[in-house]
Amino acid sequence: MKHLKNIKELATLKGAHEKDGRRLSPEDLSLIKDASVIVDTDENILWSGKASELPSKFKDTPSVDCSNFVITPEIVDSHTHTVFGGNRAFEYSMRLNGADYQDIAKAGGGILNTMEKTLSADLDELFKDACERIERIHSYGVGTLEIKSGYALDYNKEKEITQLIHKLKERFRGKVQIFNTYLAAHAVPKSFQSSKDYMDTVVMPLLEDLSKEGIVDAVDIFHEQGYFDEQDTALLFDRAKELGIGIKVHADEFNDNGGAALACQHGALSCDHLLQTSKDGIDKLSRSSTVATILPGTAFFLGKKLANARSFLDAGCKVALASDYNPGSCHCDNLLLISSIAGKNLEMNIAEIWSAITLNASAALGMNDQGAIIEGMKARFSVFETNSLDEIIYSWGRNFSISPQKALSL
Ligand SMILES: [Zn+2]
Repeated sequence: MKHLKNIKELATLKGAHEKDGRRLSPEDLSLIKDASVIVDTDENILWSGKASELPSKFKDTPSVDCSNFVITPEIVDSHTHTVFGGNRAFEYSMRLNGADYQDIAKAGGGILNTMEKTLSADLDELFKDACERIERIHSYGVGTLEIKSGYALDYNKEKEITQLIHKLKERFRGKVQIFNTYLAAHAVPKSFQSSKDYMDTVVMPLLEDLSKEGIVDAVDIFHEQGYFDEQDTALLFDRAKELGIGIKVHADEFNDNGGAALACQHGALSCDHLLQTSKDGIDKLSRSSTVATILPGTAFFLGKKLANARSFLDAGCKVALASDYNPGSCHCDNLLLISSIAGKNLEMNIAEIWSAITLNASAALGMNDQGAIIEGMKARFSVFETNSLDEIIYSWGRNFSISPQKALSL
């Protein structure tokens, strides 16, 4: 058992948790100054509150001084494409210089470029690059990280990438919790006649194969016009549900094609992007437990209009923010930076922002036992060496995070 004592400021998100992460007001951060947290040997929270109200039975618990720290629930990045070969810096410069999507494709850019680089990269190189990226992401305070496969789009290499993500999960155990999402249905390779052909030849048989290894935490699909349709999505989701695997979906980024509604109908953990979601989709999300995940970094990077976060928040949806870190449309791996910039532009209040990267982001991965620092939840924290919680979002791009393992001797 351990007593984290003299915490300068503790954001418990108790209020947000009581409201299931919906319709939050600023007080739902449930901020406590000079706080204490008691953690048991299994890393569960036994008690949190004002230091002056610590129950006497915990008075002699061995303690760690946290007087320099602001502590929040652990930051969770619930949507990333962290494993990829090469990079597409040249393509972004082309974009800045006025090139459009077709010019870039002609010059060998786009997802096909990442596919080629991922296919030709050796696994040790991909593993080493991913480790460096995860260390950096962790240095910003992220403790749980979702990683999707989906840049090989070839049976054997996709299999190896999902296995590689599993290896990363083992490698970072105790430091960063990794969630392994199977996204073979990311795009249809040119060598296949149709999305159905690719689903039948690669996506579905490989899911069967990988499910035997028990290493897939969720499936995901790029449900957009010209990519994968409703039938492909239903095929994947129905089988994933039979196998007891969670489901997620890239939805309504380019057009409103009913992706959010489809996600609710299938009981998805989350639907992500949502730039074009209709009122019907928002209404359905507000009545479901599916998390609406907004990825503002991608819209910033591409110079697109941001998602209308307020329409989701005001309708009572559970909203998360994630980085969408990837080599093509958002080469930014710093979710806190993205959240700082997104806050005012998406008109989110401070409790909505913190909940979107902790409590609701955890729910987007089906981890409902973390995201609030209250009795019964997992002791997963982000720790910042600064004066107040306000300074973290305010000081955009500055990193106050320190490793919880080091700071709290966890
Ligand atoms: Zn994505």
